[in-house]
Amino acid sequence: MTKLVSVKELTHFINGKAVAGTSGRFGDVYNPSTGEVIAKVPLATKEETQHAIATAQAAFPAWRDLSVARRAQIVLQFRNLLEENKEKLIDIICTESGKTVEDAKGEVTRGLESVDLAIGAPHLVKGEYSVNVGGGINAYSAKYPLGVVAAISPFNFPIMVPLAQTSMAVAVGNAVILKASEKVPMTALFVSELWKQAGLPDGIWTVVNGDKDAVNELLENPAVQAISFVGSTPVAKYIYETGAKYGKRVTALGGGKNNMVVMPDADLEQVASAFIGAAYGAASQRCMAISTLIAVGEDTAERIVAILKQKIDALKVGVYTNPETDFGPVISQQSKEQVLAAINRGEQEGAVVVCDGREAEITKKSNGFFLAPTLLDHVKPGMEIYEQEVFGPVRNVVRVNSLEEAITLINSHELANGVTIFTNDGLASRKFTTEIDVGMVGVNVPIPIPVGYYNFAGFKGSRFGEGHMFGPDQARFFTKTKTISERWLSPAENTGSTFAFPSNN
Ligand code: NAD
Repeated sequence: MTKLVSVKELTHFINGKAVAGTSGRFGDVYNPSTGEVIAKVPLATKEETQHAIATAQAAFPAWRDLSVARRAQIVLQFRNLLEENKEKLIDIICTESGKTVEDAKGEVTRGLESVDLAIGAPHLVKGEYSVNVGGGINAYSAKYPLGVVAAISPFNFPIMVPLAQTSMAVAVGNAVILKASEKVPMTALFVSELWKQAGLPDGIWTVVNGDKDAVNELLENPAVQAISFVGSTPVAKYIYETGAKYGKRVTALGGGKNNMVVMPDADLEQVASAFIGAAYGAASQRCMAISTLIAVGEDTAERIVAILKQKIDALKVGVYTNPETDFGPVISQQSKEQVLAAINRGEQEGAVVVCDGREAEITKKSNGFFLAPTLLDHVKPGMEIYEQEVFGPVRNVVRVNSLEEAITLINSHELANGVTIFTNDGLASRKFTTEIDVGMVGVNVPIPIPVGYYNFAGFKGSRFGEGHMFGPDQARFFTKTKTISERWLSPAENTGSTFAFPSNN
């Protein structure tokens, strides 16, 4: 039963100000560690979203016309403010997401990498120039901002993902609208205050809170030029298809079902430590979390499962205020029930339960949305627990006989976000990195999330569209390239009309 504590009514952030919602519709924001409703988030109407888009559109030309250097200085100032307010940010993130303080610190640090890259935007939007490409003509290409662009973000990284989706978009001269996750809107509202303090002109940074009504307006409104989406695969697919229908540039990143392949020669103690953190960290609510350990050889499987059982049984699940906590709750009661149902179905389909989080006291008795860790062995393709992304702490072990079998299995899956292999065999690693059809690949690295100056995205059902999150590709995605050919002729150089197609040689 949800207990109501002092519930704050949140706002949108439009034209440099907090703006109250007018729809009369609200979503509950929980503290997942206590199960309490801590805030009400307004869910914007189509008309409220239209108004936000119009203010962004009006603000855009002056921001576009500011020098790239001045824009970069404002982004630098924003970066300094994020650093100064780190403790406060971490507190908000932990309160509304339930993740541990150390995990939130890591998230903020990785988010800052995207801001760092955006400070270097002047370098990334440099064009090309060629002299005398033909008949005294010089040619150059130049990158221009798109106008109003939108980012739609998921709950599981309240700051890292929005910063990755928006920092470069702002820096290269766009007016940005963030539709934050309605489950974690407080972080985005706090970030809005920091943009304002950094000197960003009103209207260039907007937060519209809401659900699919707001999203649909962003997808359909002709003033919105591009959409960056991060979330689950079914919604990513919908965003991509609908955005394309309305002529938008769209990158839509979806879910993951990431594997860790363990070769017989790997150091299994090292593997077990890597797996535990990558699989259960943040209560497994990461798109790059390891879902499945694929053990090559029966002997490898037997040995690794025995080590994992010991380590998993020792994990501490609890509130973020306890520094001993390894991971916190899942985001909602509904999510907790979905994970429990997925474990039950896995067992019914023949998986062997090695560690059973369903029976733990914290799972059964807490008001928070806690779930102790579960490990399922003898999981097989075709089982729902193998095929579907489960966003909570139940993880799988699959047994195969060879590296070829592991590669074929992974390449047959619809989701292809991240993957990693643990081995001391360079040739096995080379075969794996060459043949695997997954966007982000690790070798002896638990979670192969690229650093902020490399592009981030999966393949297949983990990404729709061609853009990336993080990385230099953001500068391309949020700009359009004009190619200009110019010639300055004196009257004496006028050679009259030519009717042949110009060939320039
Ligand atoms: P979600 O898809 O439920 O929601 C994401 C966003 O879409 C939210 O802002 C939400 O309000 C909006 N939304 C939800 N349903 C919608 C609908 N029917 N129409 C329009 N908009 C809708 O995802 P989530 O539960 O917030 O986040 C978890 C998911 O995100 C997981 O699948 C995870 O793997 C994925 N994720 C992927 C990456 C990546 O980089 N590939 C990163 C983080 C999270």
